Amino acid sequence: MTRYDYLIAGSGLFGAAFAWKARKAGRRCLVIDKRPHLGGNVYCELTEGINVHKYGAHIFHTNNKEVWDFVNSLVPFNRYTNCPVANYHGELYNLPFNMNTFSQLWGVRTPAEAKAMIDAQRAEALAALDGREPQNLEEQALCLVGKDIFRKLIKEYTEKQWGRDCKELPAFIIRRLPVRFVFDNNYFNDSYQGIPIGGYNVLIERLLEGTDTRVDCNFFAEYGDSWRETADRLVYTGPIDEYFGYQYGRLDWRTVSFKTRVEDTPNYQGNAVINYTSHDVPYTRVIEHKHFEMFGQAVYDCPRTVVSEEYSTEYKPGMEQFYPVNDDRNNALADRYRALAAAEKDVLFGGRLAEYKYYDMAPIIEKVLRIEL
Ligand SMILES: Cc1cc2nc3c(=O)[nH]c(=O)nc-3n(C[C@H](O)[C@H](O)[C@H](O)COP(=O)(O)OP(=O)(O)OC[C@H]3O[C@@H](n4cnc5c(N)ncnc54)[C@H](O)[C@@H]3O)c2cc1C
Repeated sequence: MTRYDYLIAGSGLFGAAFAWKARKAGRRCLVIDKRPHLGGNVYCELTEGINVHKYGAHIFHTNNKEVWDFVNSLVPFNRYTNCPVANYHGELYNLPFNMNTFSQLWGVRTPAEAKAMIDAQRAEALAALDGREPQNLEEQALCLVGKDIFRKLIKEYTEKQWGRDCKELPAFIIRRLPVRFVFDNNYFNDSYQGIPIGGYNVLIERLLEGTDTRVDCNFFAEYGDSWRETADRLVYTGPIDEYFGYQYGRLDWRTVSFKTRVEDTPNYQGNAVINYTSHDVPYTRVIEHKHFEMFGQAVYDCPRTVVSEEYSTEYKPGMEQFYPVNDDRNNALADRYRALAAAEKDVLFGGRLAEYKYYDMAPIIEKVLRIEL
């Protein structure tokens, strides 16, 4: 039986990037994943010639040139720029809040007109507080952007996401609500963004080139305590509470569920991302996957399209663990598990599940590139 330097449990971006780095350093790795495919949450399923982001839309964005150059050295990235649109009872608004949005909301034409409108509405909200601090998300948002933006673009969308009234949500969830007084629909402020040409699976394939892999292989069922028979070290990227047998209890997560279907039209909604910001529509967003990778005539050269409705769903064990819940209970619980992890010999806990921390993709790559083997 082959002996490895590293057994890597989890083939997501953390595990795959770690395997790349270890291989470059001459180490032998075995990467396993309990799912039937490699790639973790960036995995895409090919349907109708379109890469469908199976675990939610993924847009790579970063200010870090080293990370951007690294991923582009493996697979060139396209020029996709995230410009979501909001649909409120059939009215369309550009996001993030910028001069296009303000013009659509109020018919204003200049930054001065837009600023005057927002300032007047913010002043109204501050006057209503009468010197007190905002006590909940609703008061906070009204003070930041005023009633029109709050009512049409924030309130019901946020309530769908959290399953609670904005008045019952804490103010800290929305610390800042950036408004831009320029006509710029680019969602990210980062210098670099895009999607790997050919999809994320190509990125994962390149990261794992030359590395032994096994899918449908659960670390606990197939290796567990005996992993040292296979490798000198373990890189564990699964849930940290599961690794320790949930001995202190389970960590909570938030999740999203998807309803994906094929539409018999080349262009269903004209954009990759449309947010539905009113309660009458049960889903929060509709993703049309082809727009991440097909531009101009290519949209029409592919005769059908694939769309996914996204629903905010209450998490129950067994569902996809998407976003950590960083409230006091879960933070304290995660700290207790982290203390156990720190004492574990020859095991590196890395990635969003093992660290119980939300990471975008670029910071994951950055973190792995900095690890000293
Ligand atoms: C809905 C959603 C949308 C996102 N959109 C973006 C975006 O637009 N831009 C961006 O930069 N980032 C985005 N992210 C973040 C991105 O998904 C993460 O940064 C990235 O997936 C983290 O990689 P990872 O390896 O830590 O985790 P994962 O990709 O989750 O990989 C962990 C892997 O470990 C495997 N595993 C777990 N337990 C075991 C076990 N016992 N045995 C074997 N294998 C196991 C899992 O099957 C999984 O494949 C998004 C995240 C979510 C949830």
